[in-house]
Amino acid sequence: MTSFHTHRARVHDTSLPVHRRHSALRTCLTCFAPYGLRATYHHLTVSARMPRHLETDPDSLLRAVDELHEARELWRAGAEEYAAQRRAQKRSGRRTRPVPPWWDRYRWGPLEAAWHHDPFLHPPLSLPDYVQRRNALLDGAELPGCPACGEEGPAVPVPTGHGEAGLCRSCARVLTPCPCGRWHGFEPSVRFGWSRTWRREHMTDSGEADPRWPGVRGAAGTVRPAAQHPVHPPS
Ligand SMILES: [Zn+2]
Ligand SMILES: [Zn+2]
Repeated sequence: MTSFHTHRARVHDTSLPVHRRHSALRTCLTCFAPYGLRATYHHLTVSARMPRHLETDPDSLLRAVDELHEARELWRAGAEEYAAQRRAQKRSGRRTRPVPPWWDRYRWGPLEAAWHHDPFLHPPLSLPDYVQRRNALLDGAELPGCPACGEEGPAVPVPTGHGEAGLCRSCARVLTPCPCGRWHGFEPSVRFGWSRTWRREHMTDSGEADPRWPGVRGAAGTVRPAAQHPVHPPS
């Protein structure tokens, strides 16, 4: 049994105290978190309607871990298919440069860095839908819009000091690089503390996203990428 399955079973174990089951969900996220740990956790709090006080709805933990599990199964299937294609290409002696898979953190790090700094900026898709979208693109499907979230609106221009990059207006993924040719990462100007997100201060006791919290989606999602500042990679 992998760590993911062991801890998923703990989330399902209703004989355990709810805070232990919540910790087990966190361990599952350290094994698999398609939006990065913080943003994936934030997504699950909203999609599974995890209330600020978990005791009022412990079943929300099951909804959260099961959404994560479903996405992980799709990712595993995609990763196996990718590995099989690579083996077949090697056997046939084709020396094509491989398309890096979307789950390769080293590659996607700078493009989707905003999600890591602001857990509210992630695609508004369910995790299974997100994984299916990324797997389909890797397979060569032509899907319109931002590769991460499908947003088709124009990119938000963000100055880099010597040029301009274009960020997705929904999830702040970098869509068009700076003319200098380097893929700068972007961080939000406003940072949200992880401990407040972890305690679900953005959620109400009935499991709704608290409308007074500044990070909720809506207008904020389209405005905030413009307020980001570039992080220059070491030269
Ligand atoms: Zn996007
Ligand atoms: Zn540049």
